[in-house]
Amino acid sequence: MGAVEIPPLQYTPVEEIQSHVSTARKTFNAHKTRDVEYRLVQLRKLYWSVKDHLEEMREALRLDLGRPKFEAELGDTNWVLNDIIFVCRNLENWVKDEKAENIDITFKLMNPKIRKDPLGCVLVIGPFNFPFQLTLGPVIGAIAAGCTVVVKPSEKSSHCAVVIQRIIEAALDPEAYIVVQGGVSETQALLAERWDKIFFTGSANVGRIVCKAAATHMTPIVLELGGLNPAFISRNADPRLVARRLLWGKTLNAGQLCTSQNYMLVERPILPAVVEEFKKAYSEFWPQGTKKDFSRIIDDASFQRIKRMVDNTKGKILLGGTMDEKERFIEPTLVQIDSINDSLVTEESFGPLLTILPVDSLDEAIEIANGVQATPLALYPFGTKAEAEKILSQTRSGGVSINDASLHIPTLEFGGVGESGSGAYRGKASFDVFVHRRAITTSPGWVESALAIRYPPFGKKQDFFIKAGSLTPDFDRNGQKLRLGWLRYLLTLGGGSAKSGVTRATIVAAVAYFALQLLDRRGSRL
Ligand code: NAD
Repeated sequence: MGAVEIPPLQYTPVEEIQSHVSTARKTFNAHKTRDVEYRLVQLRKLYWSVKDHLEEMREALRLDLGRPKFEAELGDTNWVLNDIIFVCRNLENWVKDEKAENIDITFKLMNPKIRKDPLGCVLVIGPFNFPFQLTLGPVIGAIAAGCTVVVKPSEKSSHCAVVIQRIIEAALDPEAYIVVQGGVSETQALLAERWDKIFFTGSANVGRIVCKAAATHMTPIVLELGGLNPAFISRNADPRLVARRLLWGKTLNAGQLCTSQNYMLVERPILPAVVEEFKKAYSEFWPQGTKKDFSRIIDDASFQRIKRMVDNTKGKILLGGTMDEKERFIEPTLVQIDSINDSLVTEESFGPLLTILPVDSLDEAIEIANGVQATPLALYPFGTKAEAEKILSQTRSGGVSINDASLHIPTLEFGGVGESGSGAYRGKASFDVFVHRRAITTSPGWVESALAIRYPPFGKKQDFFIKAGSLTPDFDRNGQKLRLGWLRYLLTLGGGSAKSGVTRATIVAAVAYFALQLLDRRGSRL
């Protein structure tokens, strides 16, 4: 028993769900969350609420996942705090209208810009594995973007779900940010509602259910799913680095990490050294055995699923392999397999299983990985720069850490591709994913004579207008770029043929010059 008490999770009655959604929707429609200062105040209050609940968060992570304190701070508590500060520091810049680039000179008169409009009332569905980071992370982005949010934490990490609700309810506007608790029935009741975006993190199977529900209302979705992530270990890799980094990547949170490698394709010449280094790293990381400083599997069903994968393997266990059902403990287990159809690689292990498949060459490794899943969430090449580039150029994945495990996640925007998901978030991307880029032009009354060319009756004037406005290609019919294409472009100012270009360029330039002068003088008056 820890120092703080966390009450059991109470599901939200299904019949109340609709009214919660309608509250969030009404608040958005009242334009309350559009004000940027309001958003900042909510985020700042959220920060302090997280601070006030740190002990409960650590305890909940210990109870649900047996998470060591350092990993609780690294992957959840500190992560969320830093996320909020980063967003608060940058929000005023992110919300600014963007001037449109590369627009035809005529349209410059219309002050074209992009406004970052909040999408509306959004649903966030969280997973169990990094419950605070992966549930509050999208919520932070949605608040920053000016959306109202209904959030459904995972019922599997039930203590964390309770603490998420406490954090939100202690800090945030209850009319705009609402927690709904529950499992399948409650989530399905939520999915039956109309949303302006659904942000889902979880398995591909449930992702499909989300997609179908979203289709009913044509709701845009973000899917943050799992993947059968490969690591490529070339004969030129440093075996010690490979072992330390990939052992960490597959044992953080006991391998319940969507970006952890599901299998390692190791070139045969380096295989003995890699295995040796895994053994060394193992004893260096856990000199007193892995029962200390090591997370537990989330529930019995997941424990049994991972156990089945190990029971059914035709591979050879090289390290670890012990399990304790009562504690839901699975020791980091290194297994060498000889077929990509082995039970250890045909599904996402989401546990501390380190599977090695020896290969003869990088070409073979690439072919195997592309056959297992063409679009995993992450991919890890170890070897020379040239080898990493070769792998990048012949594969696809949501993200890549070269020479490491999972390090692109805290650094960059994060998301999958194809079967591993769509949409990305983190940092500025968390804001972007919840805004609509609304295109706005303003046509001043005084340019009416210039714009009147579009009205009938049509005649020669319009023919001239179309010709003058046509761009000149700087490429030929064979798709080859023309030499001195830029000179043609300049002579014609992008319009018509080079022959008539100089006169036309002069006219267009003069008109544009005077129009811009006039615009400057008249300032922002319409
Ligand atoms: P899950 O799909 O079982 O559950 C996710 C959420 O969906 C939970 O809130 C749950 O209540 C809800 N849910 C479950 N069954 C449902 C149903 N039938 N209908 C409607 N809602 C339902 O996922 P999980 O076990 O929490 O997480 C593990 C999976 O998530 C792994 O596949 C992992 O790779 C993936 N994951 C991906 C990311 C990422 O960012 N890409 C992060 C974490 C986890």
